[in-house]
Amino acid sequence: MQDETQSFEEAFGKAVELGNKIADNDEKADLWDIADGLLAGAVQYWLYTRQPCGDPRCEDCLPISTAEGRLGQLRQLVQEFSEESQYFHSPTDANVGRA
Ligand SMILES: [Zn+2]
Repeated sequence: MQDETQSFEEAFGKAVELGNKIADNDEKADLWDIADGLLAGAVQYWLYTRQPCGDPRCEDCLPISTAEGRLGQLRQLVQEFSEESQYFHSPTDANVGRA
């Protein structure tokens, strides 16, 4: 569990670091494009790691044994990570009340 947390934190930190580095190296780079590229790469890697092992009775692979199943898991994770992010709510959100 400790190792799992450490790997997660390292991957998380390095992805953010990489985005900042790409932006620093190219002043004209569009931050949205950098972020979309990072997300596409993350999705690619995630799908690569979630290929079922091939045993039709494998319980570990049951939730990810179809493309639909994998997309469902991916959506669930994206929702969780979004809600946990410090940037999920913004003070400039259109629905923020102003006194
Ligand atoms: Zn399996």
